[in-house]
Amino acid sequence: MENSKENFIIAIDGEAGTGKSTHAKNLAKKLNITYIDTGAMYRCVTLACLEKGVEPDNYDGVDTVLKDIKIEFKREDGIDKVFLNGSEVTSQIRTPRVDSYVAKFAALKNVREKMTPLQREMGKVQSVIMEGRDIGTVVFPNAQVKIYLDCSEEERAMRRYKQNLEKGINSSYEDVLKNIKERHKLETQREIAPLVKAEDAVLIDTTNYTLEETEDMIMKIIKEKIDV
Ligand code: C5P
Repeated sequence: MENSKENFIIAIDGEAGTGKSTHAKNLAKKLNITYIDTGAMYRCVTLACLEKGVEPDNYDGVDTVLKDIKIEFKREDGIDKVFLNGSEVTSQIRTPRVDSYVAKFAALKNVREKMTPLQREMGKVQSVIMEGRDIGTVVFPNAQVKIYLDCSEEERAMRRYKQNLEKGINSSYEDVLKNIKERHKLETQREIAPLVKAEDAVLIDTTNYTLEETEDMIMKIIKEKIDV
């Protein structure tokens, strides 16, 4: 992947609840570059399929949904919003129902073949901080900065459970932990683009660090690698 000289890519990968989104969002603001949440794209695919009654085992049905799917990220009044086929779906893509289906849709070949090029296009025209599962391994193997965030399952579930409470999403800690464990299995064992740390990614285990401490560590790594 060729990036123009002044553009750079910061890839942040890791599992749900490791703090990827929070850090990527904050750092994008500080560095004044675009933030791209690739998980939101897989969530949009999931929502679009479920709305049409298409289950992950209906490969052709998924194909049809993918054909005209339009996913957009827009910042309105300082708030990051996600649009699916023209309608705002920022909160609809975060429901427990989407949580329970997304890893199954994200494992499909046709879904990844549609999303990966879209993500590469976004990084061609601008500097980006992109977070997901396969950014440093598949989407941008030549990213200038690669971070891999890790954290214990229990702590990740607790963080996600608290986030849900703040967002008014009804879920129990046990259900969140169950979903975190299921997604771990599906994401690390899938055939295409499994979740794995890129060899040249810097690993940070965030279990015992605050958000501020982790962000400082990431910023330090970024500054060592690129002139920002
Ligand atoms: O990051 P988030 O939890 O919102 O991602 C939702 C799902 O999308 C993940 O559970 C994973 O299955 C999938 N995903 C992926 N590849 C990415 C980003 C997310 O497979 N690059």
